[in-house]
Amino acid sequence: MNKNHKSKEKSLVLIKPDGVQRSLIGEIVKRYERTGLKLVALKFFIPTPKLVEKHYLIDDRWLESVGGKTIESYKEKGQKAPFSNPIQGGKWVLEKLKKFLSSGPIIAMVWQGNEAVGIVRKITGGTEPLSSDVGTIRGDLTLDSYPLADTDARAIRNLVHASGSPQEAAKEIRVWFKPNEIVKYRLIPEAILYDVNLDGIKE
Ligand code: GDP
Ligand code: MG
Repeated sequence: MNKNHKSKEKSLVLIKPDGVQRSLIGEIVKRYERTGLKLVALKFFIPTPKLVEKHYLIDDRWLESVGGKTIESYKEKGQKAPFSNPIQGGKWVLEKLKKFLSSGPIIAMVWQGNEAVGIVRKITGGTEPLSSDVGTIRGDLTLDSYPLADTDARAIRNLVHASGSPQEAAKEIRVWFKPNEIVKYRLIPEAILYDVNLDGIKE
């Protein structure tokens, strides 16, 4: 299969410190694993605030978009955000995320398969656990909300990070893994997902 085949798409997933502390590593890995996505890299360690910053600043529009979302969440509560523009808001969220993600061990993983980014985002659910869909990791397994996180001036605790696009994933993977840490191997059940001819099943 060629290198650009859709079955080779990759997504970076981090199990944040709340996921590790809540003993949800197995539950979270299971939800991605049972889709047929293939685990191609995994590590467990405490990241530095600098590494976390590098990860979030990969996309130069991220500060503005996350800051805009934060200002909106204050507005919805009828409150004024402690910052006036989206970039400032993004920097505020980034500082909180640096503190949160470096507070304890995390798991970094790379999942590969058709539409890996979209499949992983669907299973992960929306950013805020209060409003993320039932059936998703963030919707089923935790309970944080914008009002609580903002009142306590901390990042939303939503168990996982998942890449937003294949381009973002490629850059994020380079932050967390060396090229030789991505394991190239065949998972036998991939045949039923991707083989065109499906020969070799019947005796
Ligand atoms: P994601 O892609 O769904 O993780 O969301 P973003 O990339 O927009 O934000 C990154 C992370 O920052 C989220 O997962 C949250 O942990 C945190 N975060 C995002 N928006 C807010 C916010 O408005 N308030 C607070 N307190 N944290 C936020
Ligand atoms: Mg994001």
